[in-house]
Amino acid sequence: MPPKLHGIHHVTALAKDPSRNIRFYRDVLGMRFIKNTINFDDPGTYHFYFADRVGTPGSVFTTFPHPHAGLGRKGAGEVSTTKLAIPEGSVGYWKARLAEHGIKDIRETGGGDRPTTIEFEDHDSMALALVERPDTQAPLAFDFWEDGPVSREHAIRRIDGVRLRVRDTAPSRELLTDAMGFAVESEGDGRLSLTLGEGGSSQRLELVADPDAPRARMGAGSIHHVAWRVADDADHLAMQRRLMDAGVGVTEVKERFYFRSIYFREPGGVIFEIATDGPGFTVDEDEASLGTSLRLPPMYEGNRKNIEQALPEVKA
Ligand code: ZN
Repeated sequence: MPPKLHGIHHVTALAKDPSRNIRFYRDVLGMRFIKNTINFDDPGTYHFYFADRVGTPGSVFTTFPHPHAGLGRKGAGEVSTTKLAIPEGSVGYWKARLAEHGIKDIRETGGGDRPTTIEFEDHDSMALALVERPDTQAPLAFDFWEDGPVSREHAIRRIDGVRLRVRDTAPSRELLTDAMGFAVESEGDGRLSLTLGEGGSSQRLELVADPDAPRARMGAGSIHHVAWRVADDADHLAMQRRLMDAGVGVTEVKERFYFRSIYFREPGGVIFEIATDGPGFTVDEDEASLGTSLRLPPMYEGNRKNIEQALPEVKA
């Protein structure tokens, strides 16, 4: 049996102001702030995790915020929109809520055979979409955060999918369908919809061709990478082998403590990660206290004082 990707594990963005980042994703979007840690490859930068109550893979949106980060430039070779699944009938609630919190230019898209959707940008000009989906399209249980600011009937369920803008969809399509197990659901007008597994929420990827777009430049407001899930280490190693056999330059396995990861760039230029479902976010703090204190991996714990002093102050 070939190794299986089950959908999105998390999406990671670059951002500017850490306090504003928390206030938007936790207090406005209502995702639980489940982990306050650092970028393991750059300990002077925070790594914030927002998710459902426990950080179910597929519900996780993470950020590397830094006040001095320059803004990114939109273009080809990046995730151009991150879509979040909301319950059917809740778009009106979200339009009002976002407007109340100062989000301007909320566009309603979808309609016809496409799900009702609103698109807007966060404070760093990063494109987000909220897509109405029936809960039956969820490949995973949704673990509602009872103490959050949004009621269960409207709460964001998980990441619905990602839209990638590339100059040419063909090479990306080939890798996605051959080595990664995606199926083409529909295509036309320079757009391809691809799905994994049952094609539910967090199992969707849209490829948009934009041959004349400038190359995207990563910075605040850019998606840094999208991570796909495998169930265990055996599938992780098998997927690494499969990518190597497809001629992809994939990294060694990196220990991320909450999961293990490999990274590579898909042919359109977007950084992909493949992450294991386990061990999960309760490995270093219990469920009730997730996100309440700065967590450092063992390799940095001895240097905690210096790291804490160097990190930007957060008021949120
Ligand atoms: Zn990641």
